[in-house]
Amino acid sequence: MTDPRRAIPRTDVLLALPEVRAARDRLGEHVVRAAVSEAQGRARAGQIAASDVTAEVIASLRAHRSGMRPVLNATGIVVHTNLGRAPLSDTAREALTRAAGYVDVELDLVSGQRSPRGVSTREALLRACPQAEDALVVNNGAAALVLATTALAAGREVIVSRGELVEIGAGFRLPDLIASTGARLREVGTTNRTHLQDYADALSPDTGCVLKVHPSNFRVEGFTADVSVEQLRALLDRRAHDGTLDAPIPLVVDLGSGLLASEPALPDEPDAAGTLTAGADVITASGDKLLGGPQAGIVLGRQDVIRQMARHPLARAVRIDKLGLATLEASLDGASTPVRDALRADPQRLRERAESLAAALASTHPDLQIEVVRHDGRVGGGGAPGVPLPGWAVALPEEFALSLRLGEPAIMPRVHGGRCLLDLRCVPEPSDRALTAAVLAALATPAGDRRA
Ligand SMILES: *Cc1c(COP(=O)(O)O)cnc(C)c1O
Repeated sequence: MTDPRRAIPRTDVLLALPEVRAARDRLGEHVVRAAVSEAQGRARAGQIAASDVTAEVIASLRAHRSGMRPVLNATGIVVHTNLGRAPLSDTAREALTRAAGYVDVELDLVSGQRSPRGVSTREALLRACPQAEDALVVNNGAAALVLATTALAAGREVIVSRGELVEIGAGFRLPDLIASTGARLREVGTTNRTHLQDYADALSPDTGCVLKVHPSNFRVEGFTADVSVEQLRALLDRRAHDGTLDAPIPLVVDLGSGLLASEPALPDEPDAAGTLTAGADVITASGDKLLGGPQAGIVLGRQDVIRQMARHPLARAVRIDKLGLATLEASLDGASTPVRDALRADPQRLRERAESLAAALASTHPDLQIEVVRHDGRVGGGGAPGVPLPGWAVALPEEFALSLRLGEPAIMPRVHGGRCLLDLRCVPEPSDRALTAAVLAALATPAGDRRA
């Protein structure tokens, strides 16, 4: 009896295969060796035949790609946190590729000397929001807020309404974040009602800043009251003039959403320009929500306040990288962004696209229940909680959701009410063909073949 394991191809034999040698041009030695030993291991464990090891190694190297897979977002949710929030525009993708190599991010090519970092991105922000005197970009929105409270209020108090002590997403709880900066939280008002007098009573020489947070993922309805940016501005100005405070107290507004100017599709969503005009000293926002750019934290507003933040040592620890600077600038200067296009998508066009998708599916699968239905998209993690974006979706039986997600390209549908809904709002129109082909492939997968 010969041990079947002796038939497993040896490592040196596998590494010498032309296909494996070619893969070594693209992949690291450690990745190639891991593929080889995994296939050998599977054969040793009896999971595959020794004669299949060679094919297994070649297939696994061919399929090797980095962890993240592109997904067509057919949920109708524009800023989908689990799908990486804002997709970048073509202009921003080109900027990303250009910035990938050596770039003059901190170099003046004329003098050959060091120059300040991110100058052109700052200028693009000021063009997009002329109401701001200055701008600062950091790693993400949370970092912008941490930097603001640290630089303006460490060791002192941050006054915040109890109605705004929010949890935004996994791991982001405003009170914990502020406490981590060494500032003390001075809560005012109640969950549903906060009045100007509550702020007035809390102001003291120990106040580092007043913070107003725009709750981007929920709404409080009913018996509510909150204090506007204008009212807070007037209060702070009065107190600066009547001599009861020795220094001006900055008013910081965390907008989150990242709208720089008003967006017709979201008339009630506050924006940076309007909030600065209303009297905020600085606003903080995310780059990858409604702004439609890369992950970034944006600070816009008064120059003295922004300089104080930029000078703080923490600013270096939350610095944005060159890829973020390049893609943010390109997103700001570009004609549009995929986020804006999705927000403004014409419902009639969405209906036509849904109907042609449904027709293509029904012609090859007359047996399946396929319908075009009204469907409201959502802004998602970016802001405007609860605001519907009216449109249409193709409804399929729910059982196809998994095959869609595992398809090529992967499609993320919305599973709701026992159906699998495909809303094309966030699918770029040029991808409709690829989407149709992938849905057809998913419908052709017999239920038993679907990996569960
Ligand atoms: C999203 C959000 C943040 C956090 O921004 P990140 O870019 O995710 O770090 C902070 N505040 C508000 C109001 C937000 O909506």
